[in-house]
Amino acid sequence: MSELPAKEQAFFEWYNEVLERSGITDKRYPIKGMNVWTPFGQKTSSLLDRLIRSRIEPLLYEEVNFPTLIPETEFRKEGDHIKGFDEQVYWVTHGGRTELDVKLALRPTSETAMYPMFALWVRSHKDLPLRVYQIVSVFRYETKTTRPFIRVREIHFFEGHTAHLDGPRAEEQVRADIGSFDEISRALCLPHLRVRRPDWDKFPGAHYSIAFDLPLGGSKTLQIGTVHYYRDNFARAYGIGYEDAQGNRQLPHQTTYGISERILGAVIALHGDEKGLVLPTIIAPIQVVVIPIMGKEPAEGLVEHAQGLVQALTDAGLRARLDASDERPGAKYYAWELKGVALRIEVGRKELQARTVTLVNRLGVRSTLDVDELVSGVRSALADFDQALWTRGLNALMSRLHRVAPGEKLDPEKVNVIGWCGQEKCGKDVENTAGLSLLGTLEDATHFDGLPSPVCHFCGNSSGAVWALAARPL
Ligand code: ZN
Repeated sequence: MSELPAKEQAFFEWYNEVLERSGITDKRYPIKGMNVWTPFGQKTSSLLDRLIRSRIEPLLYEEVNFPTLIPETEFRKEGDHIKGFDEQVYWVTHGGRTELDVKLALRPTSETAMYPMFALWVRSHKDLPLRVYQIVSVFRYETKTTRPFIRVREIHFFEGHTAHLDGPRAEEQVRADIGSFDEISRALCLPHLRVRRPDWDKFPGAHYSIAFDLPLGGSKTLQIGTVHYYRDNFARAYGIGYEDAQGNRQLPHQTTYGISERILGAVIALHGDEKGLVLPTIIAPIQVVVIPIMGKEPAEGLVEHAQGLVQALTDAGLRARLDASDERPGAKYYAWELKGVALRIEVGRKELQARTVTLVNRLGVRSTLDVDELVSGVRSALADFDQALWTRGLNALMSRLHRVAPGEKLDPEKVNVIGWCGQEKCGKDVENTAGLSLLGTLEDATHFDGLPSPVCHFCGNSSGAVWALAARPL
């Protein structure tokens, strides 16, 4: 098969081709932007859900599952929220041939489904904090170009919703959620930037929104997760109230936390290469493939030996697969590399006699391992592989940033780090002068040791100026 398009020069051609050839999704379903989760894609997605659950449940979130349909009467209760989603909602207007008295929205997100129930569940201060999450499909009528995982109309979505006694406790939740996102993104080897969105771009109905942005090359960025603080905006609109210890009625403060299938698009986009997918081991349906090298005359017992290796790895909880098919070794390597398998184990006559195996990881690093140390050796090779992905990702992140010195122009081919005074007028200037968007202010400057104190790139004001990002979000 021909080479994949060069990723750096033709990103979207590469992205589409790698998805199609690896079989991780099938976009031929007859609704644009609604794609089929293939067995390979579905396994990857389930592993991602498992990762998210494992980092959410220690924060005492409990899983729920709300109906997909939301009555229009509930949907319209929070004014800003509605303005933000109105253009994107799919409406169910009929039951059979009967026109419904109240139209039903296919949830674009679940605030308006959950909060009428929160109003029933929260009565007393003893009912707080309330923390629930669900992992479901949400639906948005996208008018921009759809792309698998990155911009779709049926979105596989994790959403966490909380309610707390007051603002400080809710903001503590925001910080805990950010901590859990750091763990999730570390496991997926996705170094990213934490950005507070400007007021004109925060989540509809939120008091503030913190987003996680991943630079993807050039000035492109992808939002891979968000945490929002709502204050009591939704509690007020939905009549969620509680009685405090003194018997006074109070409004709880709320937060939400969202991660969509887009993070899978980010994994593919950041790590993939000209050979295909490169999957971090935590979400790889197959972590290790064992390939017996048959040669002209296969050594006696070679396939059984290889099968034994797979069994030992599987027994140890690793996801391993034997490939003893008739294909040439080169064709097998190609096929498993395309699917992003982290580690290939080759075993031929020579290795069989020496009781060793040859390991080759997806980044091309080769090593030899004693069979007696198979499981521990493979575990450590998988950990090294993830570490290498993280380091490579971090280097890519840093190389894509451009810190704009006072008086210097913005670089339209980079993610620009600029000083900003916080005024909307100056922020909007980015869009007019450089064709970039102001993503918001940097919340986490850990990657930027030694940044001087900023002055606004546009008005030169230094009082209260902070570092902000200007880029082209996908
Ligand atoms: Zn300014």
